[in-house]
Amino acid sequence: MSAPRPVPVPDSQSAPYWEASARHTLALARCGRCAAFALPPDVTCPHCHATDPGFAYEPVSGRGTVRSWTVVRQSALPGLVGEVPFVLVDVELDEQAGLRMIGRLLDGPDSPLRVGDRVRAAFEDVTPNVSVPAFTFGGVAS
Ligand SMILES: [Zn+2]
Repeated sequence: MSAPRPVPVPDSQSAPYWEASARHTLALARCGRCAAFALPPDVTCPHCHATDPGFAYEPVSGRGTVRSWTVVRQSALPGLVGEVPFVLVDVELDEQAGLRMIGRLLDGPDSPLRVGDRVRAAFEDVTPNVSVPAFTFGGVAS
């Protein structure tokens, strides 16, 4: 019997992100002052440094460009031991220069992968109520 896969535990700031993910929508926090996306949102806006950014979550396209990646071959988390090897991609999202998000590439560890490849958001249904954002090549023109 393997350990259960860990699931995210939303807090008040991340709850809208996980609620959108459960609907298979990627929604990111956007600063109410300068309109820049912040991932992850912090107490202050990393762009305009507003201390009262009033972040609100907005859906984004989920489309982006691979900037780097790594193949995870060992897991320190017992719940992920059965998942290795898997690929984590570092993706710059189309919505904003420098807006980068790391996620699992669902196409598998043997997929040919190059910097500059186009990907889109996809979702892993970890439990009936929890879906985790990831990425896939599927349906994305390069
Ligand atoms: Zn801002």
